[in-house]
Amino acid sequence: MQKIAKRIAKADWEKHRRDPDVEPLIHVKDELSVAEGLIFREQRIVLPEALQRKVVKVGHKLGHLGTTKTKQMLREKNWFPLMNSMIDTAIDQCYECRVTTKLRSSKRTNQSDKYSKQTMGYSINRPRGTVSGRSLQPCYD
Ligand SMILES: [Zn+2]
Repeated sequence: MQKIAKRIAKADWEKHRRDPDVEPLIHVKDELSVAEGLIFREQRIVLPEALQRKVVKVGHKLGHLGTTKTKQMLREKNWFPLMNSMIDTAIDQCYECRVTTKLRSSKRTNQSDKYSKQTMGYSINRPRGTVSGRSLQPCYD
């Protein structure tokens, strides 16, 4: 985040566009500012990497509201690149969110109930860190 603060101060984004820490923020650079050691995108705090997971985890556990509402809630005050996909991943792996959202939708149709029984076992037992790993590939013999 120090690097980002420097880019904001010096407005030399183009020189650093290949920097992996800088690159994801270039498209919003005009909305960024620094105040009291924190970086803001307009009114929202740009979370440093060390906090991103924590905030998503804690924020989503407040209510287990499913993706849409958790995103709305977290995005009110926070922002970071790939925030949406991190929330998607967290909720995708969360049993309680799944139950909450499935309960809501199963009131409308019984189809989703059948579906959730089929998919739950797979998702709950999914080991950590396999999202981009090979182990998600189905194995056909
Ligand atoms: Zn949850």
